[in-house]
This record gives sequence, structure tokens and C-alpha cells, in this order.
Amino acid sequence: MPPLPKRKYPKARQGKRRQHIKANLGHVVECPQCRNPRLAHNACPTCGNYHGRQAVTVAGPALSD
Ligand SMILES: [Zn+2]
Repeated sequence: MPPLPKRKYPKARQGKRRQHIKANLGHVVECPQCRNPRLAHNACPTCGNYHGRQAVTVAGPALSD
């Protein structure tokens, strides 16, 4: 027989152990063009701007200017 835990861990203790396990969003920065949050080193999903130029075309009301 393998060694077994003497008691079950309560849900509170399990939660305390897992409190540091969470989804990692990565590095979120503010877009200098439209001030919306975007991932660093990625084109902005709102305005399509990257490094001062239009990198991707975004369909929607964000291109109203
Ligand atoms: Zn933007």
C-alpha cells in the first residue's frame, strides 16, 4: 500500500494553496494612440496602431477619425 495522507485537506486550505494560481494576462500597457489597454509588443486591438503606424486594419467604430 502506498503512503496516504492522514486527513483530507479542507477546501479553505486548498483555496489558500491555489490563491497564487491565476490566469496570466501578460504585460498590458496603455496604447499611446487611443489610451486603451493592449498587450506589449502587439498591435492595438482597438485602433490597430503599432510603433506609430497603422499595422493592422480594425473593422468597427474605432476608425471614425
Ligand atoms: Zn490603440
